[in-house]
Amino acid sequence: MQIHAHPLDLHLQRPFTISRGSRTVAHNVLVEVEHDGIRGRGEGAPNSRYGQSQESALSALDAFRPSSGWTPYHLPELVDAFSTLAPDQEAARCALESALWDWIGQARRRPLCRLLAIDPHRLPPSSFTISIDEPAQLAERVREAADWPILKLKLAGGEGDWAAVEELRRWTDQPFRVDANEAWSEEEAAEKIPWLAAQGCELIEQPLPAGQLDATARLQERSPLPLVADEDAHGRETIADLATAYDAVNVKLSKVGGVREAVAMIHAAGEHGLDVMIGCFVESSLGIAAAAHLTPLARWADLDGAALLRDDPFSPAVVTPEGIHLPHEPGLGVRPRSI
Ligand SMILES: [Mg+2]
Repeated sequence: MQIHAHPLDLHLQRPFTISRGSRTVAHNVLVEVEHDGIRGRGEGAPNSRYGQSQESALSALDAFRPSSGWTPYHLPELVDAFSTLAPDQEAARCALESALWDWIGQARRRPLCRLLAIDPHRLPPSSFTISIDEPAQLAERVREAADWPILKLKLAGGEGDWAAVEELRRWTDQPFRVDANEAWSEEEAAEKIPWLAAQGCELIEQPLPAGQLDATARLQERSPLPLVADEDAHGRETIADLATAYDAVNVKLSKVGGVREAVAMIHAAGEHGLDVMIGCFVESSLGIAAAAHLTPLARWADLDGAALLRDDPFSPAVVTPEGIHLPHEPGLGVRPRSI
């Protein structure tokens, strides 16, 4: 079995801006697993918010040496060994695990959702993200997103939030969600959330900085909208605490460290009465496909990462304004465009 890791640089159609900053390129990683004439591929999106970079992910993957005799069917052993080697490199682990699932799916001629015994028919629609922008540009983005059934508006705190929502509402009455990406104080959130509810907002993602569960719990008591943990939600062991302050969790494969951890988190969330959103970072259709196979387990999907790209290197597109299209091909079900 051969494991190769490569940089995967993805260019956005437009600068993508959230409360923490702006970028035009996503520096992701691609893992390829080769064995018995089959090649499995997986993607990870390292995130600086969690102390990761493309370099840190690639160096951890390059340093990884599987035991001799292991094949891709040793997926649990491989993922656990990598996790021991590089416990903070969840995005790299996700890329490795996704490549192993892709290989196993091709070897067994089954799509990932079937390998996981997930019913592929109950698919929620995906939202489409409107990142932070000047009002004139925001209006253009909203018009371009007219075909998407739900919008997700990024807010950064301060007076600009009111103007952004008013601008959104000048152009559309589509339902929308808000992601504050940790930008609000408790007072600011308490003031804005009822107003957002009146504007047709359906949920609020990560209103306060991560780690402020007591303040979030106070906010939740007064909030007319569900609160969704994202930057606060990192694996199955975080779920019990999150259930004291949130209504739901955003599960992203690159954030939590891959498919197995995501499924465990989803089950733990259900046991604690939390709803689940399957989310993503800026990723190609390879990373989006892996997440899409889990969406039948979730109430909400936020998988527009590849739709934001200028040059998606994988096809077919799994998430479009019309909905999520789970590939019927084996494994993750997407292939490089050049092949
Ligand atoms: Mg978020």
